[in-house]
Order: sequence, then structure tokens, then C-alpha cells
Amino acid sequence: MPSLSVPPPKCLQKPLVVPHHHMFGPGPSNVPPRILEAGANPVIGHMHPEIFEIMSDIKSGIQYMFQTQNKMTLAVSGTGHTAMECAIFNTVEPGDSVLAAVNGIWGERAAEMAERIGAKVNTIVAPPGGYLTNTDIEKALSKHRPALFFLAHGESSTGVLHPLDGIGQLCHKYNCLFLVDSVASIGGTPLYMDQQEIDILYTGSQKVLNAPPGTAPISFSERACQKVFNRRTKPVSFFLDLNWLANYWGCDDKPTRVYHHTGPVTAFYSLRESLAVLAEEGLENSWERHETVAEYFHAGLESMGLKLFVKEKVRKPTLTRLPTVTTIVAPYGYDWKEIMSYIMKTHNLEISGGLGPSVGLVLRVGLMGCNSSKANVDMVLAALRDALKHCHRSKV
Ligand code: PMP
Repeated sequence: MPSLSVPPPKCLQKPLVVPHHHMFGPGPSNVPPRILEAGANPVIGHMHPEIFEIMSDIKSGIQYMFQTQNKMTLAVSGTGHTAMECAIFNTVEPGDSVLAAVNGIWGERAAEMAERIGAKVNTIVAPPGGYLTNTDIEKALSKHRPALFFLAHGESSTGVLHPLDGIGQLCHKYNCLFLVDSVASIGGTPLYMDQQEIDILYTGSQKVLNAPPGTAPISFSERACQKVFNRRTKPVSFFLDLNWLANYWGCDDKPTRVYHHTGPVTAFYSLRESLAVLAEEGLENSWERHETVAEYFHAGLESMGLKLFVKEKVRKPTLTRLPTVTTIVAPYGYDWKEIMSYIMKTHNLEISGGLGPSVGLVLRVGLMGCNSSKANVDMVLAALRDALKHCHRSKV
């Protein structure tokens, strides 16, 4: 018999220690006790009737949050990236043309995912902090004739809330599916999946929903299902194959559900509770709260002499600054990393630097779900004021 060559790790003899921070970065956000406690319920089987009922409640909650009647509505077991891949892998076949709007990192990532499965990918690029007009988009649609157009509604890397009106209609004029990433925006600002003719919409659990990371709501329109279920080739991922997921979530017309994967049941409890919280507050109240708090925050930043990265405030009828994640121009003469770590050390508060095209250019503050309050804004403003006073400032 061979003997163990790896002993039990000493570190595991110490108790688990998890600090409490104010999670005011671009996600994950703080999880309130009600949602944490929901996740602490006993584990039940992933194929038990009780979990199917919970999954059915989740489906209704997502339909409400997304404002959709789509039957093909479920939560993927995984983070926002899993939902992105689920959307792209199921709707795109090798050789298909895909168009991605790049107004930050998420368009770049969507383009890379489509490229990896052999799609012909084109991009239309908006300047950092800016957005694309419907004329730009129509030109690109008519030139590239894509099967799928990707757009991030809330670009958490640049802080842009991309206008959506009319884009779904344009996509359909060119026989193209409209895929929207709402990971950073849903619940914090208006979005109407059916009325805005969005074909595939996904989000994550850890932002406005205030659930732990690990589940990702997604929905497919009839038009998207037509494409998905009439493919010539099987999707590259077994785990993300919508045929399987639809059956597990009771979205197909089959009388029985077949084991596909072990759903993260406790994560489903938390997700259900987070959707219940959103439904109790009401979408419109949540949108209004996020927008009022964001406006209060932005005014406070400007009165401190700080500048917002997204120059244009509104493009009627919508805002162009994301009310959930704010990008602040990195204060001149300071090291943004020092500001971030000072604020964490001194105020126990997480804010973050830039991501992708905004690295080095911005600080990012996320106030999402239960974190979106004027009291939290005051806390962030005080922390920033203190950091600007105490962090090193170069003379140049
Ligand atoms: N899209 C957007 C707009 C995001 O903000 C994020 C998370 N920062 C993602 C996608 C990816 O989500 P996750 O980290 O949960 O995979």
C-alpha cells in the first residue's frame, strides 16, 4: 500500500475567517441577511419536486425582472460568463457572422467567445465612455449581415448605460438576433425585454440582485429558440446545451425531466429570495431608487472637484451614465491603486480600479441593490475625501 505523500494541510486546522467589507465595487455586492439565510436552508435533491417548484418560482421572478413572457427562461449554474457562453454557444454555429458592439471589455469578451467557436466576428467600437448611435449600428448590420448582434446594456468597465431603443427592431429588419448583456444594469434601470425586441438577455446574481455569485438568469425569445433548435451542428458545450437546460428547467414540453447536472440547490434558494426582494420593492421603485441615489452620488463627486468618465449625462429618454456602477476619472496626480487600498484599509470599503480599456483611467464604485442608498453615498464620498487628503499626490 502506498502511504500518503500529502499530509492534511495545516491551514485547514484554523477556523474559516471571512471579513465583512462594504462591497462598493462593481460586484459582487453585499448579500443581506435574508438572502444569505435563504441559502443556509437544507440541501435537497436537484431532481426533487420541491426544487422544481423553487426553480419555477425563479423562472417567474426572472420573467418579471426581464419583463418577458418567454417560456425559455431559466438560470444557468455559473456566473455571468457562463450565461454569455450559453447565449453565444447555443445561437451561433461555426461560420456564422457575429457582430459585437465594443464599448468596453464585455464586447471584446463576447467577440472572443464567438471567435473561439469558429464564427466570423466583426466589431463596431465606441470610444471609451461613449456609445454607438442607431445609425452606426444599422450601417454595420447592413454591411456584415450578422446572425447575432451583441451589446452590453450596462458596460461596467466604462460606466456607460447603452441606449437600447430601436436596436431590436433594426436587428430584426436585418434578420439578426439581438443579444444583450444586462449583468450590471438589470433591476437598477429600465429594460423591457419583449417590448425592446431583445432575443437573448442574461444577467448575474451578484449585482443588483444581491445574491451570492454563481447563478445567472437567462432568457431566449421564440425567434432565438427557432435558431437554437434548428441548428445543423450540436453546440460545442454539453453543459450549456439549451436542449438539456430547457428540460432541466421544465421549459420544454417533455413530460419528464432527465438528469443533466446537479443544480446548485442552495444557490437557487438565494436567487429565489433575491428575486422575491426585487418583486416586493417593485421594479419601477428599484429603478427610481438607483437613479436618485446615482444622481446624488454624481452631484457629490462633482462638488468635490472629481470628474465623471461618462461625459454625457442623458440621451433622452434614457440616462447614459449607469446608475449602478459609476466611473470616476482617476484623480490627477494620484496613484489610483493607493486610493483603492487606502479606502479598504481605513474605511473597510471596496471600490475598484478600471477594467480592460479603462484600466488606469478610472475608479469604479458600484452601489447596487440594497447598497444603493444615500447613506452609502455619504460613506463613499467621505472615504474619497479622506483618501485625497492622505494619499500621496505628485507635484507634477
Ligand atoms: N458582463 C458585465 C457587464 C459584467 O459587469 C460582468 C461582471 N463584472 C460580467 C459580464 C461577467 O460576470 P461574472 O464575473 O459573473 O462572470
